[in-house]
Amino acid sequence: MRQKIVAGNWKMNKTLTEAQSLTSEIANMVEDEAPSDVKVVIAPPAPFIYAVENLIPEIGKIVLAGQNCHQEDSGAFTGEVSAPMLKSLGAQYVILGHSERRQHFSETDEELAKKTDNALKNNLKVIFCCGEPLDIREADTQNEYVTKQLTNSLFHLTPEQFKNVVIAYEPIWAIGTGKTASSQQAQDMHKTIRDHIASKFGQDAANETSILYGGSCKPDNAKELFSQPDVDGGLIGGASLKSRDFTDIIKSF
Ligand code: PEP
Repeated sequence: MRQKIVAGNWKMNKTLTEAQSLTSEIANMVEDEAPSDVKVVIAPPAPFIYAVENLIPEIGKIVLAGQNCHQEDSGAFTGEVSAPMLKSLGAQYVILGHSERRQHFSETDEELAKKTDNALKNNLKVIFCCGEPLDIREADTQNEYVTKQLTNSLFHLTPEQFKNVVIAYEPIWAIGTGKTASSQQAQDMHKTIRDHIASKFGQDAANETSILYGGSCKPDNAKELFSQPDVDGGLIGGASLKSRDFTDIIKSF
């Protein structure tokens, strides 16, 4: 059985007190209402991880993630956050390769391979984002585009390392646009990704890999997306900033 996961990416939103309020609301709702077999990941801005960590039950359904980390453990990289820092704040996961990082901070597949290595070395699980822009979807070359991203950044890993990787498929044209991929489009790509993983790591590893969908996932479309056989949950942006919407998405399984 694959782990079902719903992860909330808060991006660069909230002040400390707002982040604490949102965390408390989510913690209360999730512990009361969320199915016990769903792992809930929240990715606040890095400066808030330690403060919100104290607001979630120690043994519960919620764990924390960073939104990015550097490929080195430490050094002269002003403004950056390292994997050991995230780990020491209480994070168990880190999101890598989000399309906003690729677009605004020019992160390449090669750099993301190094970041993945470093995160795994520091015992962080990686939520690795992939996804195509609109022109690639319109040219119907999305499968080649996405599988290449995965090959370039993840296919050097050992099977043992790969067990700690979760994939998030996020078509860029659906992120923050209100335009969701249809459940069939999501399923088709998730199956393509799973087959691609199987070609490198074997069918058993592919069957055990959680593949999340991201891109305008909301309470009113989550049920249909999550009911697809290869969709194992979601990476949620905008809707993760509202405790009721986020919890309702988690309850969509
Ligand atoms: C995201 O940025 O990862 C995302 C899925 O955003 P949204 O849900 O707002 O489209």
